[in-house]
Amino acid sequence: MNLTHPFLDTNGDKLREECGVFGVINIPDASAMAALGLHSLQHRGQEAAGITSYDGDRFYSLRGTGHVADNFSSEEALGELPGHMAAGHVRYSTTGGSGLRNVQPLYADLASGGFAVAHNGNISNAQTLRHELVSRGAIFQSTSDTEVIIHLVATSRYPTIVDRLVDALRMVEGAYSLIVMTPEGMIACRDPHGIRPLVMGKIGKTTVFASESVAFDVIGAEFVREVEPGELIRIGFDGELETLRPFGDIKPRPCIFEHVYFSRPDSVFVGQSVYSSRKSIGEQLAIESPADVDLVVPVPDSGVPAAIGYAQQAGVPFELGIIRSHYVGRTFIQPTQGARSSSVSLKHNANSALVKGKRIVLIDDSLVRGTTSIKIVQMMRDAGATEVHFRVASPPFAHSCFYGVDTPEREKLLAARMDLEPMREYIGADSLAFVSIDGLYRAVGLEKRENTCPQYCDACFTGEYPTSLTDMNARKNADAQLSFDKVD
Ligand code: SF4
Repeated sequence: MNLTHPFLDTNGDKLREECGVFGVINIPDASAMAALGLHSLQHRGQEAAGITSYDGDRFYSLRGTGHVADNFSSEEALGELPGHMAAGHVRYSTTGGSGLRNVQPLYADLASGGFAVAHNGNISNAQTLRHELVSRGAIFQSTSDTEVIIHLVATSRYPTIVDRLVDALRMVEGAYSLIVMTPEGMIACRDPHGIRPLVMGKIGKTTVFASESVAFDVIGAEFVREVEPGELIRIGFDGELETLRPFGDIKPRPCIFEHVYFSRPDSVFVGQSVYSSRKSIGEQLAIESPADVDLVVPVPDSGVPAAIGYAQQAGVPFELGIIRSHYVGRTFIQPTQGARSSSVSLKHNANSALVKGKRIVLIDDSLVRGTTSIKIVQMMRDAGATEVHFRVASPPFAHSCFYGVDTPEREKLLAARMDLEPMREYIGADSLAFVSIDGLYRAVGLEKRENTCPQYCDACFTGEYPTSLTDMNARKNADAQLSFDKVD
């Protein structure tokens, strides 16, 4: 393995979901349920977690860095969060930095009373709105895009809190699934395209909201339905539910990558089991790009369901040719550059007895920078595989995400820099293929992508973003102006 390769740093080679949200109203000790729900959403963000509760009189907040269990597993911690309504958040920061002041839910005392918000997604005109607000005298406490929503609500002239929230959200573009708490109850809402997920469940008279349905399984809640794209649901302390659709008729475009990678396989997304979506992607891949091999080997863990689908479709044995260590934490101390470069071998090890002398096809969910793939292909060769083919259960990832997913800058995305053959050569595989965009749509239960009006957000594959990208365009214009000034 060439440790001096310029792209061997594996940091940033996996996409990270920015956040998960959870809300519960009308149950005693709501924060304990929020902690359980958040625990099941831990895969959506491991950097920090927070819960805010309300007891009919006051709001209480506890936020900390690290995992949910690090912050909310003790009776002491939950004792600081009394009340019958609670909202929680797990975070992986992309915008706004990782400081404690950005850990959600964010809270503000508004003229109308307390206002707490937990947000999954990213507002693509947050910087522009923030500049305007600051120029009008607003003072920000955090660098999070979510705080823009609080300031817009605070300065809205509408009389009710729901109208003020709607007024604020009309100015916002991008992706947001929100859980809001006020002294009147809970509001859950999803941006007009429904880019990030949000689902509603019930346990008796208790209503729960979560980023993914898996949270309901864990707390014993019944899945009711998705919060629809562009829908705002308000629940009072009497349990009454009111639903509004203030943004008109806009075509939903939920993130197709939830099917590919972000959601847990035991969740249901847009009416389909995520596990079965992933298996179907593997089947499509086997139909579109067969490989003459002895074994189908998943890149663990996210490549497993697609590899099962591929193997079943191809009639080739599925085997665990790579074993993953579950004990490599993000905080593992890697004192030297050499040690850092071997992090893939710490996490993955070849099952040499199995792959030696075999022709194998590796299945991974995505190829982002390709840095991990190089090492895994080499690891299989070192273990004695005679041929190593590579299949990817998503189309080439060639564009950055601006909707709350941590992606490297476009120049670092392998598919933005290279065509197929150079990519194959770069990762060192005998052959390389990606599932087609229509194959991906077929796997999630649709006939094909409607090119004039796509059913999902697939911008990271196609570059067709469902919303304007005001901040990014402003940055581009500023850069262009700068180079113009320099030439001048
Ligand atoms: S750009 Fe990609 S990752 Fe981002 S929301 Fe759209 S489909 Fe999902």
